[in-house]
Amino acid sequence: MAVHPRMKKAIFLVWLLFVPAGMWFTFQTFPPHFSGEWLDLIAFLTLTSVVAFMPMVINNTPIFLIQWVSLATFLSFGLFIEMVFAQAAVILLLLKLRIRKEQYFRIPLNLIMFFLVSLVSGVVYYSLGGKTGPSLINDTNAIWLAAIYALVNYFLNQVIISFYLFFIYKRKESYFGKDFIVETITTFITLPLGFVLYMSYNQLGLLALLIVAVPFASLSIIFKLYYSSQKINEYLQKAAEIGHQMAERLEVDGVIDLFIQKLSEMLPVDYAYIFDVISEDELQLVRRIQCGTGITIENAKIKNNQGISGNVWKKQKGCLYHSKKDWKPYSKGYLPDDAESVLAVPIVRNKKVIGVLLLASKQKRAYEKSQLMIVDILCSYFAVAIENAKHYEVTKTQSERCALTNLYNYRYFEKILTEEFDKLFHFERKVLSLIILDIDHFKSVNDTYGHQSGNEILCELAARLSNIVGSRGTVARYGGEEFVVLLPEADKEEAYQLAEMIRQSIANWPFILQQSLELKKQQVKITASIGVATAPEDAEDPFALVRHADRALYVGAKRAGRNRVAEYSSC
Ligand code: GH3
Ligand code: MG
Ligand code: MG
Repeated sequence: MAVHPRMKKAIFLVWLLFVPAGMWFTFQTFPPHFSGEWLDLIAFLTLTSVVAFMPMVINNTPIFLIQWVSLATFLSFGLFIEMVFAQAAVILLLLKLRIRKEQYFRIPLNLIMFFLVSLVSGVVYYSLGGKTGPSLINDTNAIWLAAIYALVNYFLNQVIISFYLFFIYKRKESYFGKDFIVETITTFITLPLGFVLYMSYNQLGLLALLIVAVPFASLSIIFKLYYSSQKINEYLQKAAEIGHQMAERLEVDGVIDLFIQKLSEMLPVDYAYIFDVISEDELQLVRRIQCGTGITIENAKIKNNQGISGNVWKKQKGCLYHSKKDWKPYSKGYLPDDAESVLAVPIVRNKKVIGVLLLASKQKRAYEKSQLMIVDILCSYFAVAIENAKHYEVTKTQSERCALTNLYNYRYFEKILTEEFDKLFHFERKVLSLIILDIDHFKSVNDTYGHQSGNEILCELAARLSNIVGSRGTVARYGGEEFVVLLPEADKEEAYQLAEMIRQSIANWPFILQQSLELKKQQVKITASIGVATAPEDAEDPFALVRHADRALYVGAKRAGRNRVAEYSSC
């Protein structure tokens, strides 16, 4: 949820007004226990920074396990120094997370929170009689007070975070979910470590920091490895699931849409491009998505080894860039200016690159190496799914269309006719008209100009019919030199007029033969006879409609002298 710019300004202002003054107040009221141990202070600050630099990322949420170091710092040096270190830790952590410019308000926001948490828990501790400094070592009460300090510290932290989420981020879902439980448990497991650090620091000096910090850092690294392998596992599982879903899609566009959608759900994707290999040395952009919306593609082509995608193709290997300056020298300029991270992989099928996928994000360091691997796997699922979908589309076209004219065939026409009749029965349509057309004396055209020329005329006629009918209906080749036009929502009058237009466009414009037996282009004049019938007035089932239109054609048009349109009449 975007935070309003006015709110961001207010956050900066609140920090400026309260935090520096509050720290000055703390310094005056609770002077630090410090008598020149600069080295010790630097060592504690270093430990704070190291811990802040190793947030444990669990379920994509960085968990900031700084409380135990804060506790030791507080007990050793007092509230003021703990407060300063906590502020430093926040800045370091946010730097490490590489927040974007528009997210800079998070720095004062967190500084305010840490200031309040430090101040309140410190004041509670002192007012309960708690002391800080090296003298606590034999004070058993100190453990209990330190525990209270830690509890106040932690819960105040949670309260402020929930407040922020609700009032600043306006988040509706509950914050006290799985992440909250994980964070609570890890914080309380590490807290005693803070007390141990304080005790051993007082007895062993700086060596204590190493003794405590090294195992902690190691654990943190082990955790990180564990979670990253778990995350990869999760990704792999998701990838397999996406693979199955893509395999179920039958249309090429459907596969591409699903692929992009799933990628965007898995990774930060602001821009996505899919290229197809169209020849030995050329890639063509087939899909381009910018910030979630498809952009129409101008005829963008890229040569093998040109640009980022061309290089990925040439090397047959994916690539990963963390920021713009890394890829800018190779780019062909189609990536928007605000793109930073880029991840590109070849789409490979049977050891051959058939395309390239390129993802980009406005964030720096948005992609990791492990994600490159996952996208690579997804691309191989994608390649298979696309091949199947292409195959399906070709088979579908072949089974639905006539190879010569590319019009729908009789089988498809019958299917559509039945469907349209169903709509008529269910009152989704009021009328349905059918035009049937037969070329006059076509046998003699064949005899005169050859069968091949006859075919050319059929193709030209198919194109004319498609042009005239457009989206008003479905044109199909009924057989030989007969064509049908199915017109949903056209009454008899409209159908008749359209048929008349078709008749004239055939009779008035000669057909030009490209490959006639003679060398020069030849013109052939033909005519056609046409029958029209309309449901429900002329027919109550699909077959009757065809029969009656056919009857109109033969009786009303052919027998009456050809080159005319006839309507069906029952008498
Ligand atoms: P009319 O319809 O006016 O009675 O005469 P016609 O000569 O057109 O007669 P009919 O419809 O019975 O004959 C159809 C002819 O169309 C027979 C065949 O030579 C020709 N024909 C059918 N299919 C094709 C085709 O795919 N290509 C070519 N070139 N000719 C075809
Ligand atoms: Mg015929
Ligand atoms: Mg004929």
